[in-house]
Amino acid sequence: MDRLRNLRVHKRNGRQSRHKPLALLWGISRVATGRPHLAPWREFREEVGGLLAEFGLPESSVTPEYPFVHLQTSRLWDVHGLPPELDAVAHAAAFDRLNPEGGVTEQVARLLGDPFVRSQAVAVLRETYLADIDQHALLERLGLAGYESAGGIEDSTEDHARKTVPAARRTVTSSRVIRDTVLTARVKKLHGDRCQVCALQLSTRFGTYSEAAHIRGLGRPHNGPDEQTNLLVLCPNHHVQFDTLAIYIDTEGTVRSTANNSSMGPLRTHPAHPLDEAHLRYHRALCGRDTTAHATQGKTS
Ligand SMILES: [Zn+2]
Repeated sequence: MDRLRNLRVHKRNGRQSRHKPLALLWGISRVATGRPHLAPWREFREEVGGLLAEFGLPESSVTPEYPFVHLQTSRLWDVHGLPPELDAVAHAAAFDRLNPEGGVTEQVARLLGDPFVRSQAVAVLRETYLADIDQHALLERLGLAGYESAGGIEDSTEDHARKTVPAARRTVTSSRVIRDTVLTARVKKLHGDRCQVCALQLSTRFGTYSEAAHIRGLGRPHNGPDEQTNLLVLCPNHHVQFDTLAIYIDTEGTVRSTANNSSMGPLRTHPAHPLDEAHLRYHRALCGRDTTAHATQGKTS
């Protein structure tokens, strides 16, 4: 993650070039969709060239040969099949002729096989380099849709949502469809319908109202469990902020803004409603705010 956060990227008019982050997202999408981690240059040229044309800085030129060869200095990326004199030179014509292979290293591909690490890597790239573009469109294009919302994509509601709401709203809407089980009713009652972030108890004509939010979403690609330790009781406003990754809960139990880490106070808890730290950490990782080591992750996912 540190290597991802510290890519050497060119600046153009004060803005960071998106060549390397987009190429790395492409590399992650290959692992996520079960394709070989290395691809022939000609395939890379087509696919990453298309991404650069659509999502690169408007004033940048479409030069996939730059990230293809220069990502090697990040130690996350391999290129095979280039003679030594071309190994650090972005030479599209020579690549066309030699068709070398490139992509994330075998070790990186192995790490990205863990869905948690993959979510975290996508979040770091989104937050660090791509915050100002249509992330839903980009991730959908890469086959990584769902990584930009806490709820993910729920198959049961997807068709309905597709017909009734525009694309940008789709994941928000579908992830807010919570199964209204005995479980959620019980946990809302425990909290007296008070939001665990702001303590608001919303009155309606038919009594008080709150929403149950899954911390690790039930939808793809998160596949979280439908259990009490994976639920928060929130007001509608904080539910939307939690699902769109605008707020997260740190290791001390403080609610924070993802944009600037400012504190919104402690999460309100109830002794009969313990939360699973692994789920909170998963959500934090989606926000690009998990900074703890993840050596034990295999046990929690
Ligand atoms: Zn609230």
